[in-house]
Amino acid sequence: MERVIVEKTASRGIAVEPVYLYLEPDLTPDTKAIDDGQAQAEIDLFRAAKNAVIAELQELAEKNEIFAAHLEIAGDFTLQDGVEGKINGEQKNAQQATSEVVEEFAAIFDAMDDDYMRERAADIKDIGKRLMAALKGVKRPDLGGLTEPVVVVARDMYPSDTVKIDPSLVKGIITEEGGVTSHVSIIAKSMGIPTLVGVKGILSKVTDGQVICMDAGEGVIIVAPDEAAVKEYGEKKAAYESERARLESLRNTPAVTKDGKRIFLCANVGNVQDIRNALPMNTDGVGLFRSEFLYMQNTHFPTEEEQFAVYKEAAELSPQELTIRTLDIGGDKELSYYEFEKEENPFLGWRAIRISLDMKDMFKEQLRAILRASAYGHVRIMFPMIISMDELLEAKAVVEECKKELEAEGKEFDKDIEIGMMIETPASVMLADEFAKEADFFSIGTNDLTQYILAVDRGNKKIAKKYDYFSPAVLRAIGHVIEAGHKEGIKVGMCGEMAGDQKAVEILLDLGLDEFSMSAGSIDYVREQILNRK
Ligand code: PEP
Ligand code: MG
Repeated sequence: MERVIVEKTASRGIAVEPVYLYLEPDLTPDTKAIDDGQAQAEIDLFRAAKNAVIAELQELAEKNEIFAAHLEIAGDFTLQDGVEGKINGEQKNAQQATSEVVEEFAAIFDAMDDDYMRERAADIKDIGKRLMAALKGVKRPDLGGLTEPVVVVARDMYPSDTVKIDPSLVKGIITEEGGVTSHVSIIAKSMGIPTLVGVKGILSKVTDGQVICMDAGEGVIIVAPDEAAVKEYGEKKAAYESERARLESLRNTPAVTKDGKRIFLCANVGNVQDIRNALPMNTDGVGLFRSEFLYMQNTHFPTEEEQFAVYKEAAELSPQELTIRTLDIGGDKELSYYEFEKEENPFLGWRAIRISLDMKDMFKEQLRAILRASAYGHVRIMFPMIISMDELLEAKAVVEECKKELEAEGKEFDKDIEIGMMIETPASVMLADEFAKEADFFSIGTNDLTQYILAVDRGNKKIAKKYDYFSPAVLRAIGHVIEAGHKEGIKVGMCGEMAGDQKAVEILLDLGLDEFSMSAGSIDYVREQILNRK
């Protein structure tokens, strides 16, 4: 028996089942060099493989929108040009050229600071595996053939593996690689499958068919458990499942405190799929749409039309409100197609609203897209990182300018669109009473606010213990902001991680918070805390 501790949970839950080792066939490329006369034949092989992969992906894209992006990457001419360039210019055969180009492509994403972008490298590798399997004429494993419940243990899993998952048979997933924001984690979470990712060395510890216990919430795996452990985890699983059923039964109960205050429960999202995943939790909408992901996943600044299409879909899906935060880039979030000057202190540097106000044409494209989407739902605009009244007024003036243009063009939009701001800088706390006169709502961003108030870097592991939103300094700031907002009659929400922390609910309710916005997985738990509040 061996106990393996895992740092991060991708999707909570408990499983006690036999291991199903899910291993890829050997996709190592053939490295034999070709001579010039063979180049066209190799190009033809690559094109045939590419067409076969596109046909597979087209079928998958009808079932799951993740594959629309895959389809785009597979059809991308940069990929084709790269492979054909290596075949023609470097005497590489189709397999080797494909493997190298996919690796180069994936390495660009892997090198990015942002977790979310780094994990897009997995999408590219997924397509690479499909292409290699097609070129080598081998079949990849298929979860569609399972007949008994199992815990799947794999090196890594890709979105295309996960579409075959039947949650009544796949009771748990453990992978050696991958991160908690990877697609497999997102999909597993939406299917309620306990999942742990990035578990180094797990493949060498387990054997196919041997029972394994996992508690994904606690981050514990028991390899080769003895009878007592199997019994203990079996009981834990039953208790967890009845707890889940109880929480789910509360979903249709509006989050009203015992003293009669209706609290808004919203989701933080990075794309339209996240909104779909949050809908079963019966949310009041989206309290934070991190629009920067739309920019970071692109190869260029997304155009007004490209953004409009996304925001419109998001607006139509969002139950009561869709709060779109304007571009919050800089700090640790970079763009592959735009060179940021190196800065001594990026978190105190050129980021968020500072960039938008400096790059006004780009800002206007985004605001016009948001405004146009406001004709399709209850859309709200939110500015990040505001520190002065000048910034807020200038940003609002750009919205006005966009409204005038759209009106002249005869385009529909919500003329009374609410414009709010994040409270995530000490300056915005100090001036909250002034801002409350100009903003239609506040949303407290405790992730940044905590780091700026305490002067503790939010990403520095060495001082992670000092990063504490329960610090009296942060709590006083939150209380002050809520009071200032309420004095002017505006709604005050929170979209930092603190809003999804069960331990914080009581104190935030005491301070008078109106809206809690968090990742979808926390909503059930926070709702329960609100309903139970004494
Ligand atoms: C915050 O700072 O609390 C916030 C929600 O924004 P982000 O985490 O995207 O900086
Ligand atoms: Mg922030």
